[in-house]
Amino acid sequence: MTDAIVAEDVRRVYGDTVALDGVSLTVAEGAVYGLIGPNGAGKTTLVRALTGTTDAEGRVSVFGTAPREVDPERIGLLPQEFSPAERLTARELVDYYGGLYDHARETDAVLADVGLVDDDDTWYENLSGGQKRRTCVATALVNDPDLLLLDEPTTGIDPTGRRSLWALVERLASEGTTVLLTTHYMAEAEHLCDRVGLLADGRLVAEGTPAELVAEYGGDSFLDVESSDPTATAALEDAGYRLAPERDLAVEGIEAREVSAVAETLDAAGVEYGALAWRQPDLEDVYLSLTGRAVGAGGTAVERGGDEVEERAVADGGAR
Ligand code: ADP
Repeated sequence: MTDAIVAEDVRRVYGDTVALDGVSLTVAEGAVYGLIGPNGAGKTTLVRALTGTTDAEGRVSVFGTAPREVDPERIGLLPQEFSPAERLTARELVDYYGGLYDHARETDAVLADVGLVDDDDTWYENLSGGQKRRTCVATALVNDPDLLLLDEPTTGIDPTGRRSLWALVERLASEGTTVLLTTHYMAEAEHLCDRVGLLADGRLVAEGTPAELVAEYGGDSFLDVESSDPTATAALEDAGYRLAPERDLAVEGIEAREVSAVAETLDAAGVEYGALAWRQPDLEDVYLSLTGRAVGAGGTAVERGGDEVEERAVADGGAR
C-alpha cells in the first residue's frame, strides 16, 4: 500500500509559540487516521501544513507531491472554522462549491450523504448547529475526494448527528477514501480510526492503532468509586487496594469480578458511596499517562489534579 500523506519533521513557529515541533507521520492510502489532542495541541496547524495553507519547515508530501501541487480535485477539506454564506440554502451551497470543480458529484447525492435532504432549502443561518456542520462536511465531499481532511468534524454536533457522521466516514473509508481527521473526542478516534497520533504541545507523543496504544500505555483496568466520604481512601488502602494517583477515587488493577469485594470492603468500613463503575483503559487514559493531562469535554487540556491548562495565547497574531 502506498502512502497518501508523508510528513517528516514538520515544524511551525508563530512568534514565541512552537505550534508544531518536529512532527513526522505517514497515512496509508485508504486508512482513517486520527490526530488527537486538546485545544492548542497543534492539530489545525498540522492540517494546514498538510494542505499547504501555512508554510512549515520540514517535508510534507501528499500523494507523492508537495501539498500545493496536488490536484485539488483529489482533496476534500473541512476547515475547523468555516463560515459559508448565511443566506444561501444547504442546496445552493453544495451547488456553489460543486461548481468550483470540473467533476462534481450530484448535489442530491451529496445532501443525502450528510442527511440534509429534508432541509435542503433552508438558509444556512436558520439551520441548527449540527445541520450547519453537516452542510460544511457536504462542501468537502462535492468533488468525491481521494483524501478527505476533516478538522474537528463533529465539534458542536449532537450525539445523533455525530453518529451519522461517523457512519458516513466509515462508508467513505470502506469505499477507499483516505481520511485524516482531528478530534478532541477520544471515543471518536477509538471508534473511527485505524491509527491515531497523539499531539501535545506540538509534539507527536505516541502513534499507533488505538488498541496498541491502550495496551502499551493505558495501564490496568479501573474501578471508579463515586464518593466524597473522607474515609473512603483509607478504607480502600487499608484493604490493600491500589489507588490510581491521577484520579479522584479509583481502584487500579482489579478485574470486573472483584467489584463486589470492593463494595463489601466499603460497606464493612461504613463508607458512603454512590456508583461503582468498572472500566478498561481507553485512549483518554493513554493521553493522561503520556502527558499528565486529560482532555476536557470542550477540548480544554486539564492537568492532573483538575486545573485547566491555560490555552497557549496566539503569540504574534499572524495571519493564519
Ligand atoms: P489545535 O488545532 O490543536 O487546537 P492549533 O494548531 O490551532 O491547535 O494551535 C497550536 C498553537 O499554535 C496554539 O498555541 C495556537 O495559539 C498557536 N497558533 C495557531 N495559529 C496561530 C497563528 N496564526 N498565529 C499565532 N499563533 C498561532
